[in-house]
Amino acid sequence: MPIKTLLLDFDGTCTDVPAIHQRFLDASFEYLSQKGWLTNRDTWNNALAAVTERSPEAGWTLGRTPSAPAAADPYILAGEAALYISRLERRPLPADFDAYGFAYAKAVAPFRPELRAVLKKADELGVEIQFISNSSTTKIAGRLMDLLADDPALVARIGKRGGAEKYVIAELPWDDAKISPEVRRVFGALPVATSRPSGLQRPIYLRRGSYMRQLAEAWEGDPSRAATTLVCGDIWELDLALPAALGCAVHLVERGAPYDTYDYEREATKAVGGTISVDLNGLLARLEST
Ligand SMILES: [Mg+2]
Repeated sequence: MPIKTLLLDFDGTCTDVPAIHQRFLDASFEYLSQKGWLTNRDTWNNALAAVTERSPEAGWTLGRTPSAPAAADPYILAGEAALYISRLERRPLPADFDAYGFAYAKAVAPFRPELRAVLKKADELGVEIQFISNSSTTKIAGRLMDLLADDPALVARIGKRGGAEKYVIAELPWDDAKISPEVRRVFGALPVATSRPSGLQRPIYLRRGSYMRQLAEAWEGDPSRAATTLVCGDIWELDLALPAALGCAVHLVERGAPYDTYDYEREATKAVGGTISVDLNGLLARLEST
């Protein structure tokens, strides 16, 4: 079926995260030092190494239930390293803890160089483009205005859905009247999780109610649009597992070192007929082939 809608993740999918990862980790430590919570650099580095070694078995626990590999990117890694130290030393994190917000602003990842051309071409092909990201809508809109300063009409056409909280494993809220019966039906039919991928002892959870709401809004309440939707992301578990289960086509953009894509992510993508590339040119090829 031809692709009519392209749903894009933002961080890592459209940006070059390895380019700024050390700056992000350094800024995270700087934040913890400023708060007086952690001043020993070795403790920080050891925690980063310990979490990296246990990932992907160790998962992202921001939403409590593991929702992505703990070392899939520096944003997740830094948070999990701080939590690891907190458990190890039995010291709670500062009440207003926001190392992510502090470090994200200090380490703005550049766009992947081919992104601009890919967005323009997808638009030319008549494909509707929408971002669904955990980052804020305002941040994404601002970045797109920079990238496409010469084409504000395209920026306006591109949908921006921030705060998606794809990491929250939860049911749909029963009292949200905006969620259509069709959306409730397809979500209700989802299994709790997929069987464990090879090498992983924990499951990949599928019932991500917050992400589902964003998908449903992107489809204006009609989940049958999954059949003509391509979702592109850089973390299988977080970005692609749910859309694939809903019947979307999926494209995995590989992560660069030191956050390399795990083999099981490639296997899972291939198992559902998805495509994989090292950059966004592969996404363009996928779009042009439909
Ligand atoms: Mg991402």
